Amino acid sequence: VVQVARLRPEVVGDEVGSAVARLELVEFLLQSDDLAACAQRAVEWLGDNAGVEQAICAAVVTDASRMHGVAGQGVSSARTGEFVVDLADLDHPLTVAAAAAGPSYFSAHDQRLLTPISGSSFHNLPLRSRALNGGTSVGLLLVSGRGRVPGPDVRWCAELLGEKLARLRARQLLSDAEGRFGRERRLLYSIINAVTDPIMLTDTEGKLIIANARAEKLFSAPDDATEGRRRAVALNNMLFSATLSSGSMGEGARLRELPLVDPIDGSDLLFEHLVSVVRDPREGSCVVSILRNVTDLGRAKEQLEENYRKLRLAEAEVRGERHRLELIIDSVADPILVTDPAGDIVLMNTPAETLFTVGPNQSDAVQRRVRANDAHFSSFVSNLLFSGSQERWRGEIGLVDPQVGKAMPVEAIAGKMLSETGELTAVVTILHDRTEAQENARLYDQVKRASGELQAKVQDATAELAEQNELLRRQAIELEQASALKSQFLANMSHEFRTPLNAILGYTSMLVQGVAGSLSAHQKKGMNRVDSNARHLLALINDILDITRIEAGRMPLHLSDFDLKDLLAEVMSELEPIIARSKITVSVQLSNRLPEMRSDRKKVKQILVNLLSNALKFTPRGTISIRADMRARRVEVAVADTGIGISPADQEKVFEDFRQLDSSPARAHGGTGLGLSICRRLASMLGGRITLQSAPGQGSTFTLHLPCRLRRK
Ligand code: ADP
Repeated sequence: VVQVARLRPEVVGDEVGSAVARLELVEFLLQSDDLAACAQRAVEWLGDNAGVEQAICAAVVTDASRMHGVAGQGVSSARTGEFVVDLADLDHPLTVAAAAAGPSYFSAHDQRLLTPISGSSFHNLPLRSRALNGGTSVGLLLVSGRGRVPGPDVRWCAELLGEKLARLRARQLLSDAEGRFGRERRLLYSIINAVTDPIMLTDTEGKLIIANARAEKLFSAPDDATEGRRRAVALNNMLFSATLSSGSMGEGARLRELPLVDPIDGSDLLFEHLVSVVRDPREGSCVVSILRNVTDLGRAKEQLEENYRKLRLAEAEVRGERHRLELIIDSVADPILVTDPAGDIVLMNTPAETLFTVGPNQSDAVQRRVRANDAHFSSFVSNLLFSGSQERWRGEIGLVDPQVGKAMPVEAIAGKMLSETGELTAVVTILHDRTEAQENARLYDQVKRASGELQAKVQDATAELAEQNELLRRQAIELEQASALKSQFLANMSHEFRTPLNAILGYTSMLVQGVAGSLSAHQKKGMNRVDSNARHLLALINDILDITRIEAGRMPLHLSDFDLKDLLAEVMSELEPIIARSKITVSVQLSNRLPEMRSDRKKVKQILVNLLSNALKFTPRGTISIRADMRARRVEVAVADTGIGISPADQEKVFEDFRQLDSSPARAHGGTGLGLSICRRLASMLGGRITLQSAPGQGSTFTLHLPCRLRRK
């Protein structure tokens, strides 16, 4: 029909002509994608076929918030080009009309409008597609002409044009979106390629969708790649798929370790594989893998762990050391402090704490003293720190006992502790309380002074003593000489005495025997007196002679073996007349253990005679017993009487020369007072001694102790 109508318009009627015109418009619009051309063709069609006098088409060209005039009919093209509808102005009548469901009418008197169709009323038809663009208008068609209501041709054309403009708009939007998508995709690629970590997007089976350049190096090989690289890539893909398939593909990211091979140099690599599953309702799920190279990190971690383990061992050792050190320094009674190179105290033992720390609730005074101690100590340590190369420092610090405020002078010895590199690590200081030492020094001085004085006195006394000794020595020599002279004199004199005495005794005896004629009783009595006095004198002289002989060392010893029993029998028979006269019982008890003796028989007899005659003399009545026994290789002969006895005060005196306890002229007993003195001397010569036990009125026991067998010296 269209072909016929085109070739032979005269043969077709009005209706057919109208249909043909419509077809031609449709055909044009189908063929053209030019928005302005389509709109122009449509408004012209309206002028030709629908009785429209003025028409203008505005459409959204690029900016969705505006419509521009794109075609006009019965208006100048310049005015058409200037026509703009601002869709953002929601109160504008044309904006309202654009949103309306159907045509709107605008009177010619409507002052709000400024359109190319000026001076006459017009209709506005919104141009839109029912199916596309969500029913939003993509253009406006303003028409004026005959009749108030736009006819069916106008409506048809508006619908057709609306459909066409909507399609063009949709296509334009699509191409805009494609362009934008392309730009975004390129941007995304450049971003993920800029990331140095391999990044991959795979489907859930592990098929690669997107990979960045770094991932491609690991997981794909170019066609000309070496066999080794190809194998490494294949191995990497296998390992990668294996980690993907291990474990379920749950939501959220998971971290795994992924060992791979570097396809370029074949070295081992270790990656951290961060897997996150992205779920898309339309595309399905895919997996994003981000690999982080932790090869160096792994080695560093191992090294770090090893170092950490060593560190902990070292730390434990140091802690042990420190503990031991603390035990040691705490067990030291002297305060010990350790300071760091800055001079701050880092360690101290208990004695140091009492000087340098303040406990809770301490008085102001205590706190002040501790601060003062601290200041003194710090200045001491800084001396060492500023002393350069000197490693030890010794000095005195005047501290104070914080509790009682007593001055406490201390000797401080500090030493530097250096590291292997010679760096100063600490200063150790030991304080030693000097109070006692100072007190001792003071006492020592005193003692020294006193000792000096004493020494001087001793020297003086010694000198004096030496002088006296010398004097005594001289006196002793003089005395010895005098004694020797005396003994000599006595010996001589005794001899000289004895000769005339013997003559007196001889002549007296002859006279008494009547050699010169018989004597009267009176004369005989006188002669007897002479005889007895002469005998006494002779006995005295004999005694003196004995003593002087002993003292002068001229009494000889005559040793012989003899029987003590025989000797005692002799003593008894010698004193028999006296015993008989005295009417005293004398008993002799001899032990049968008595051995044969070796000694000077005559002298032993002399001693025993003397002891027994004394006992007889000083025992007015009672008994006398003589006991001889053997004790510890010594012979003991005791002469015990029941006589007058001797007081303890006199017991030593009886052994002195010429000593008689009763020295009065009217004394009852005779004697020289030399007997016991001679006995003691003789006993001593024989290697023995005489002991005495006595009490006044209870008798006396004189005991002679002698060695059994005397050896000559
Ligand atoms: P005398 O020749 O006087 O006896 P002695 O030396 O033998 O000298 O004795 C000294 C004194 O010791 C005596 O005078 C006497 O006083 C005292 N004496 C000695 N033996 C005894 C004794 N057995 N009992 C009491 N007194 C004694």
